[in-house]
Amino acid sequence: MSTSRRGFLRGRFRFDPDVQRPPWAIPEGAFEDQCTRCGDCLKACPPAILVAAPGGYPVVDFSRGECSFCGDCVAACKAQALRRADDAAAPWQLKAAIGDTCLAHRGVECRVCGEVCGEAAIRFRPSRGGVAQPLFDAARCTGCGGCQAPCPTGAIAMKNEVEMSV
Ligand code: SF4
Ligand code: SF4
Ligand code: SF4
Repeated sequence: MSTSRRGFLRGRFRFDPDVQRPPWAIPEGAFEDQCTRCGDCLKACPPAILVAAPGGYPVVDFSRGECSFCGDCVAACKAQALRRADDAAAPWQLKAAIGDTCLAHRGVECRVCGEVCGEAAIRFRPSRGGVAQPLFDAARCTGCGGCQAPCPTGAIAMKNEVEMSV
């Protein structure tokens, strides 16, 4: 049976590149074939940031909180759609991206994202005669998503590093 036919029978939905699979998910095409939509990863996630998207496949919802990279979702996935090759395997390629609605960019004092980031990936650089501006250090950012929900203007999105570089 063709992959597309199998996908149709399993209720596969067109993948939205803006949705984020759980950490350590196998590549997308294989993921949809292997994930049984059992929901075990959703139940295993301590901060409950995993939700079922239309079609039943799990995605991360950073409006609910941040990923601690505890690995409980991976341990719960019997189908091995979430799989950690070794201890050094990166969970994903996500990085925070600060958009145009950032208050500091618009001349309004705000340092919320810098205050919540435990990795010090967002620091504030004093600006002579203006408000301090966020300085993002991609090398420090783990893509945990912890800065997204607290941003008062929704200026932060989690983006795939590969997409950002094209
Ligand atoms: S690694 Fe832990 S916090 Fe992150 S999605 Fe999996 S269960 Fe949730
Ligand atoms: S535990 Fe694995 S098989 Fe079950 S829904 Fe989550 S990713 Fe899919
Ligand atoms: S995603 Fe996490 S590590 Fe990256 S800037 Fe936001 S809070 Fe810091």
